[in-house]
Amino acid sequence: MSITTTPSDISPVTAPLSLTPSARQGTASATLAINELVAQRRAAGHDTLHMGFGEASFPLHPTLHAALADAATRTSYAPVLGLPALRQAIAAYLARTRQLDLSANSIIVAPGSKPLLYALLQVLEGDLLLPTPSWVSYAPQARLAGKRVIGVATSPDDAHQLSAAALSAALAQAHAAGANPRILLVNSPSNPTGSMFSEADVAALAGWARENGITLISDEIYAELAHGWREHISPARFYPEGTIVTGGLSKAFSAGGWRLGYAALPATETGARLRAAIQALASEIWSAAATPIQQAACAAFTPDAEIEAYVRASARVHGEAAHRMHTTLVGLDITCPRPAGAFYLYPDFASWRPTLAVRGIHTSEELARHLLDQWSIATLPGVAFGDPPDALRLRLSVSMLYGPATAATGDEHEAALWRLLAQAGDERTPTSTLPLPLLDAACARWSEVAQALA
Ligand code: PMP
Ligand code: GLU
Repeated sequence: MSITTTPSDISPVTAPLSLTPSARQGTASATLAINELVAQRRAAGHDTLHMGFGEASFPLHPTLHAALADAATRTSYAPVLGLPALRQAIAAYLARTRQLDLSANSIIVAPGSKPLLYALLQVLEGDLLLPTPSWVSYAPQARLAGKRVIGVATSPDDAHQLSAAALSAALAQAHAAGANPRILLVNSPSNPTGSMFSEADVAALAGWARENGITLISDEIYAELAHGWREHISPARFYPEGTIVTGGLSKAFSAGGWRLGYAALPATETGARLRAAIQALASEIWSAAATPIQQAACAAFTPDAEIEAYVRASARVHGEAAHRMHTTLVGLDITCPRPAGAFYLYPDFASWRPTLAVRGIHTSEELARHLLDQWSIATLPGVAFGDPPDALRLRLSVSMLYGPATAATGDEHEAALWRLLAQAGDERTPTSTLPLPLLDAACARWSEVAQALA
């Protein structure tokens, strides 16, 4: 039997490519969108100072390069939770570097920590407590997982610390509004502020979560990139039964495009049930991270003096770059918490408000747009991180500004970055002598902007 239809038989409900209501509202993540916009601008001949994207951009360590080449023929699917050798290496790495008592059983590997964060939000019960500001993807992920997001206000006055009092106030307000927060997501060093928790803050935070029966997700993707004046301490040290730690290769090992992340779950019976739930979800969505990448990643997490030196040197460069930008901004009378880790700054341009208003700029989005259009500086507006639209805050990333001053071939660019890492690796040399011409030019451009706008 054949069925023939004429166009008039096709009702709107059968129209192709119809979207669900939530998909109709979705917009691309602000970080990835600005990165693509900068690429388009550059392709069209508009030189752009790229402070919009947070990518660790050092060249790949040769040991990882060789390990990936060796693993290229591993074409079989890996187990859903990850290669046993990699899970073992990550558990030992977290024991060595963060004093966490974990076995391979507690580790899950995936194509990036981003999908793992989403999987956690999908399978864990309850609404989400989220400090404001926070990384751009947490709130959209939580909403995709059907959760309500309850912001916990933080302030630049104390470098965006998270106090037990603010957490309790947010929890009480959420309950009053009919929400049921059961999860708190924290990120230290922080994207977007660069701030880090002190040991006392971490202990207080973990104690608060335990007292209130809240699951802590501790996104520690920048843990290795502390600048040296504050130590990274995981809340899992104080609250192991209720903390999930996530991390990966993207930042410390400059390999975001490898898409390799992990989650470390509590080594308890409930941790095992959580692992089974994520395993089920992963098996239906991504199956497993790419096998050659997993095999090569073992090298990153296995003790190796050279790789450890590479990570330390890259942290020193990020720290020096963030410090120079911070000094510049503060010198221009802009309030900006002193960054302690990662490669971000989160200045507040409130002091420019009157002169910006004269130019019709009232929101962080308008300020970011003005800087891109008039000054060719790409940034991200604070509103993308959950701040109110009229808070004149921007996130600046310094990590794309370590190359040579003038246009260089790919090989020249890479060679310059290796020289920079070698110099930063010599811990007797003060980081103030590191050559960062692009970053210095960026600082000079901000001074010009301030002269024109302040
Ligand atoms: N958390 C934060 C705070 C990040 O900045 C990033 C960067 N992409 C991620 C998680 C996700 O990293 P990945 O998926 O590359 O592991
Ligand atoms: N984490 C990076 C940033 O905040 C970009 C990568 C991403 O968002 O997935 O800029």
